[in-house]
Amino acid sequence: MRPRPVDRYPATTPLVSSDGFSAESRVIHAGTDRAPGSAVTPPLVPTSIFVSADEPGPPDAYGRSSNPTWAALEEALGTLEDARAVTFASGMAAALALSLSLTEDRARIMLPRIVLPVDGYYNTQILAQRLRPFGAETVLVDLLDLEQVERELRRTPCLLWAETPSNPLLRVADLAALGQLAAVADAPMVVDNTVATGFLQKPLELGATASVYSLTKSAAGHSDLLLGAVVSRDEQLLGRVRQWRSLGGAIPGTFEAWLALRGLKTLPLRVKAQSESALAVARHLETHPRVRTVHYPGLTPATLELARRQMPVGFGPLLSFELDGSKSHAEAVVRASRLVLPTTSFGGVESSWERRARWPSESAPESLIRLSVGIEPVSDLLADIEASLSTAR
Ligand SMILES: *Cc1c(COP(=O)(O)O)cnc(C)c1O
Repeated sequence: MRPRPVDRYPATTPLVSSDGFSAESRVIHAGTDRAPGSAVTPPLVPTSIFVSADEPGPPDAYGRSSNPTWAALEEALGTLEDARAVTFASGMAAALALSLSLTEDRARIMLPRIVLPVDGYYNTQILAQRLRPFGAETVLVDLLDLEQVERELRRTPCLLWAETPSNPLLRVADLAALGQLAAVADAPMVVDNTVATGFLQKPLELGATASVYSLTKSAAGHSDLLLGAVVSRDEQLLGRVRQWRSLGGAIPGTFEAWLALRGLKTLPLRVKAQSESALAVARHLETHPRVRTVHYPGLTPATLELARRQMPVGFGPLLSFELDGSKSHAEAVVRASRLVLPTTSFGGVESSWERRARWPSESAPESLIRLSVGIEPVSDLLADIEASLSTAR
């Protein structure tokens, strides 16, 4: 009898080790059963229940606890960081489950503090602040100011929530240095690795307890789904995060998980191409008379050496620039493009941009345009950006 998909893809996949092959190869083959007759594509298993009698599981009998399609995606995500992944309905759902898992642990000692970057993703700040009634106090810091971080971490117990490169200012924080400060303070460090992805940057190697992702962005890469993930080597933490997923119910859709696995196979190719083009675009913008400042990890002199060390393969698809002009000038530029799409989000195959401060809770400068570089030929992008900047005045 052929094994049922549930047996072939257990809820907790084996911890993938460095078995001699590169992450690029492993992410392509992860989740695929090599037994003769097996489907090469991990099956999409849309079901709410699994046939079971007596003791349920493992795996669980109910679809809020496990699904073979999630398991295949989680195996692939885990290969990028030699760890295990737990996937969620969105990046924010992953961030919530991780915050709850880490603060409930800390709260046994006393009220926890969440130390997080003042220039990080604005919804993460709002989420942390909304945890106040549950005992978590939020402290905003500049992650590039190590003395300030050290000072704030001294009041234990803390949770250090890092984000680098940050969204949308693309500032690069020193993860190894932050990891050391966190270790001294006995504070777990979390890294929002959405912008770099697990291919370009390895937070777990630099002292992080967990990486957290919006897979909605570069990881899935095709602007067709929302998903998130927590990646860690700490089995106890992963267990707690999984419990929050089952209890909170923010589970990934099976179709989304299946699409994300497909997208992930080309992540290395995509981000390498996007990083090369983004650097070329950033350099072009740097000398443009209408541009005041360009923010890109591959350009900023103060953190260039650090960025090269921390992201040796590329600096990622995302950059931002401040126009030498007003809010309406920036809006006009965004509207004028014929190729770069005016929209939010980033990391898709299509290039896109937006005036970031149009979001009410975003603290970005008024004339800042955040640009996500896709996989179109860079000459087309440069032509479109140049035309947009020269027509929209
Ligand atoms: C988009 C984003 C999130 C939230 O992810 P969703 O999938 O939209 O819930 C979290 N962190 C960063 C850095 C992001 O860009």
